[in-house]
Amino acid sequence: MVLRFSADTVNEPITYILIKEYDVLINILNADITHGKEGSLLIEMIGRKSDVNKAVVYLESKQVEISPVVKTILFKESLCIHCGACSSVCFRGALTMDSSSRKLEFSPEKCVACELCIKACPLQLFDLNFGAN
Ligand code: SF4
Ligand code: SF4
Repeated sequence: MVLRFSADTVNEPITYILIKEYDVLINILNADITHGKEGSLLIEMIGRKSDVNKAVVYLESKQVEISPVVKTILFKESLCIHCGACSSVCFRGALTMDSSSRKLEFSPEKCVACELCIKACPLQLFDLNFGAN
C-alpha cells in the first residue's frame, strides 16, 4: 500500500510503532519523506490479518492516507531467448516451456507476483509494476 503522511505526522515513528506494537512487518519499497513536508511510503505489510487490520486502524487514527496497490509483473517478452530458467522457479505455472516449440509461454492470469522470476532471468526481463487498486 501507499501511505501518505501530512506535514504534521511525517516525523512520527509510525513504521516503528507498527512493528513494535502491532507485530506487523514493514517492507519499505519506496520512500519520499522530507522533514516538515508531506511524504509518502510504498510498503508491504506482512502479518496476521487481525494485526494488519489493527495497524490500519492505527494509521487512520493518525490521519495517514492509505491507498492499496496491486503488484503485477512486467515482462519484456520480445527479448526472451527461451532459456527456461524462469519457468523452473514459477510454482504457479504462469511461465512454462512449450514442449514442442521449446518456447516460453507466459500466462499472466496465473501470476501471483511472487517475484521469483525477477531473480531467475539472466537477461532481467521481468520487473514489478505497482498500480492503484
Ligand atoms: S512472479 Fe512468480 S508467479 Fe508470476 S510469473 Fe514470476 S515466478 Fe511465476
Ligand atoms: S529466464 Fe528470461 S530469457 Fe530465459 S526464458 Fe525466462 S524470460 Fe526468457
